[in-house]
Amino acid sequence: MTTETNVINEEKINEILKATINPDARHVRAVLDKAKEKKGLELEDVGCLVNLSGPDLLKELFETAGKIKNEIYGERIVFFAPLYVSNYCVNDCDYCNFHASNKALPRKKLDFDEIKQQIEFLLNAGHKRVLVEFGEDPAQNTIDYVCKIIEKIYSIKTDKGSIRRINVNISATGAEDYRKLKSSKIGTYQIFQETYHKKTYEMVHHGPKADYERQITAHCRAFEAGIDDFGVGVLFGLYDWRYEVLALVSHAQYMEKKYGVGPHTISVPRFCPAQTVTYKPEYPVSDNDFLKLIAVLRMAVPYTGMIISTRERPEIRKKAFKLGISQASAGSVTTPGGYGKEDSRDFQFQLHDRRPLAEVIENILEDKYLPSFCTACYRSGRTGEAFMALSKPGEIHDLCRPNGLLTFAEYLEDFADAGLYEKGQKIIKLYLGKIENNAIREKTQQCLSRIKEGKRDLYL
Ligand code: SF4
Ligand code: SF4
Repeated sequence: MTTETNVINEEKINEILKATINPDARHVRAVLDKAKEKKGLELEDVGCLVNLSGPDLLKELFETAGKIKNEIYGERIVFFAPLYVSNYCVNDCDYCNFHASNKALPRKKLDFDEIKQQIEFLLNAGHKRVLVEFGEDPAQNTIDYVCKIIEKIYSIKTDKGSIRRINVNISATGAEDYRKLKSSKIGTYQIFQETYHKKTYEMVHHGPKADYERQITAHCRAFEAGIDDFGVGVLFGLYDWRYEVLALVSHAQYMEKKYGVGPHTISVPRFCPAQTVTYKPEYPVSDNDFLKLIAVLRMAVPYTGMIISTRERPEIRKKAFKLGISQASAGSVTTPGGYGKEDSRDFQFQLHDRRPLAEVIENILEDKYLPSFCTACYRSGRTGEAFMALSKPGEIHDLCRPNGLLTFAEYLEDFADAGLYEKGQKIIKLYLGKIENNAIREKTQQCLSRIKEGKRDLYL
């Protein structure tokens, strides 16, 4: 049976953090050289990087992370939107506005009509990927309700298309529920440990989620029930970020060793205040440390996608894209039923990037990024081991670029105003020309022409 001590070893992490304090420049540079091989890093290496100090070494760290990000992920940034389906929750997490003791919060779970209206809003904004989120409430948010909502979302079709990938965030549960979730054709199952530091975990959680063991072994139960595409994450600010980074890497290594499949994504949310949350993070993470931890994770697990949310300010997101982030939410709201409504006070936490998707896209084009809505792997069955087999040697990039171009071309045809359309076409031309494989480039060109003629949903 999987237990927490199998997944991570607190004592070992603390020993490494102590042993690698103030590493000398030679040691740091040796680790950076190792990172450039893009084979990942050992925990001792990660300890050295999180402990480095001084502007010169930090600059080298950022440069190396940027290089690795560029070589593996290239120019693409994949976009998605969260969809808060239900804020019913029996837990009392200190950092969340949906906590059960917040009696003033109107509780809401969306019905099918509301789901339809919310999804139509997202489709009309250009989204193709959603992350559905549910609080933990065994009476309100049953697994059958979750599965019916997923089925409903996939069934919604508009003249702007449909949602092509649904990632899911539900609380830790058992094998039977995970089997049902798997049969709903989900993309990634996300569940975050929030903090890997057990004492802190037990201090900030109240209710069933306070069971550290249940939380840290959830991915194992999900995997054993057939879910081979999963995401991990930490809520930064609850405990020392250096410890959390080593724990995240330990978790990823554990899953890879045990199941042959590491996490598809790592999310890096930072604590944000919320209306009724009095909790003040004991370990606030500065902007500089936040960027540093992204850079270190990029080197430690180079083939794992990294997600940033709209908790972060636009200028931080911009820097984070350069260092390692490959996926981002945009145009988000964190209230069930909140899309298309006037500002609500009933959000889960405050957002720091409230720009609509079109504005975020226009902004990243300035840095020559390629906005992508690609869902090709999931729809071609390239998940779990099949995905890892392509992603590890870096071959997936040969598909990400063409598929990113095709989905962005669709976006431009269907949603862009004249100015954005023109800027977007320049980016398409630029990266089409960079596809090295002649056959793939020609195929992409043909698909782009068909998209201009009105064809949709083409992928390689
Ligand atoms: Fe509930 Fe999740 Fe908020 Fe905790 S973080 S109170 S489990 S919705
Ligand atoms: Fe993601 Fe696969 Fe699309 Fe690349 S080709 S962006 S890995 S879905």
